[in-house]
Amino acid sequence: MVKKINAFDMAQIQFDTVAKLLQLDNEIAEILRWPQREYSFRIPVRMDDGRLKVFQGFRVQHNDARGPNKGGIRFAADETLDTVRALATWMTWKCAVADIPLGGGKGGVVVDPSTLSTNEKESLCRGWVQAMWKNIGPRNDVPAPDIGTTPQMMGWMMDEYSRLVGQYTPGVFTGKPVGGGGSLGRTEATGYGVIYTVREAMKHINLDPKNSVAALQGFGNVSQYAAIGFVEILGGTVACVSCYDRHDKKAYTYSKKGGVDPRFLMSIVDQYGTVDKQKALDSGYEVTDGDKWLEADVNVLIPAALEGQITGDTVKKVSKNLKLVAEGANGPTTPEADEVLKKNKVFVIPDFLCNAGGVTVSYFEQVQNDANYYWEKDAVLRRLDVKMTAAFNAVYQRSQEEKVYTRDAAYMVAIDRVVAAMEMRGWLTGNA
Ligand code: NAD
Repeated sequence: MVKKINAFDMAQIQFDTVAKLLQLDNEIAEILRWPQREYSFRIPVRMDDGRLKVFQGFRVQHNDARGPNKGGIRFAADETLDTVRALATWMTWKCAVADIPLGGGKGGVVVDPSTLSTNEKESLCRGWVQAMWKNIGPRNDVPAPDIGTTPQMMGWMMDEYSRLVGQYTPGVFTGKPVGGGGSLGRTEATGYGVIYTVREAMKHINLDPKNSVAALQGFGNVSQYAAIGFVEILGGTVACVSCYDRHDKKAYTYSKKGGVDPRFLMSIVDQYGTVDKQKALDSGYEVTDGDKWLEADVNVLIPAALEGQITGDTVKKVSKNLKLVAEGANGPTTPEADEVLKKNKVFVIPDFLCNAGGVTVSYFEQVQNDANYYWEKDAVLRRLDVKMTAAFNAVYQRSQEEKVYTRDAAYMVAIDRVVAAMEMRGWLTGNA
């Protein structure tokens, strides 16, 4: 059996590689390899059947040199402190590359949320805040929804925090429901952000957006808006999308001659990202194996579902016309596949740049909460475009100047920005 690499080991290996490229001082590297603070706590919840059940909770604050820690809270049965550490570290780099004034954090609870009633979920959310409220806040750590958590849960958490501190504090959690302090445009943010970076990349690789053809993996939040953006913003064609079918317990690829209609597919997808296969077949869609998206004759691939999809093996199957990979998902390309893409001169937009649209609009949400003034959706998306374009250009320029792969360039930009903030704050003198 292949041993799965520990996520935090991977985060440290990636950091060490770029630290070497940057010739980063060992003392600085020693600070950045580890989170600044870690909280591990127990959350007792009175279950509906009267039993008291105790859950394990975590919050890791990796680095707050550039601003309050930022990152989701995951409710997942296989959550571990090391996964949370890794994700918190990656959030530091994501916020830095997007150039938003936030650091990196992540939280979690070891629980399968589908086993909880609504009442139990609310108690667990409030319990998480009761354990952590002294260490989070709009000026020190701002959590958000992630796998297994929802805008409603952020609403309960924000309410619990506001009760404990004695004043309405919407900016302590982002990803709240619209009307409850949430931002317009958050739903579209990650997928459209992917497309803004794709548009910028196309300018450098001589790919006419109108003649571009893409295949996407996933048809959930990120992929739906990436597909819509690919067609409506860029004027390109989406050849196919692949998604997991919850009923058949397998993945399928949906394609149509002349390209799929993302808005139609959105009208027949459920909240878990499963397309209604029968309705698709009735409308003339071809339904094939879930892996076929990767082999489609396209020039753009947008993996926006799972990690580890483009591997040393599967990368051999991609179209010879492939020019661009836009990583909507986190970690979709393995290091082995990276080497092949690099060799074949395929342009890769790395995940923590490509999918930074979500955290960027979370930051906008906090700005709106602070001002108690809410922006129109157009204004949110316009500002998102400005941030994503600037982030892309900083990474592209660095990759050209240093003649390095885009993923390494993105790490270089991010690490440099965090180190500059640490230096400015005097953290490296040893007196702080
Ligand atoms: P989601 O749960 O809304 O959708 C996931 C999609 O992936 C579904 O359509 C599902 O059917 C599909 N899928 C699952 N297994 C599959 C398989 N074997 N083959 C093909 N499709 C499969 O999730 P999302 O919010 O769209 O997130 C997707 C990825 O993007 C994740 O890696 C997530 O961490 C990352 N991400 C999301 C956001 C965000 O704002 N939503 C932000 C940054 C990164």
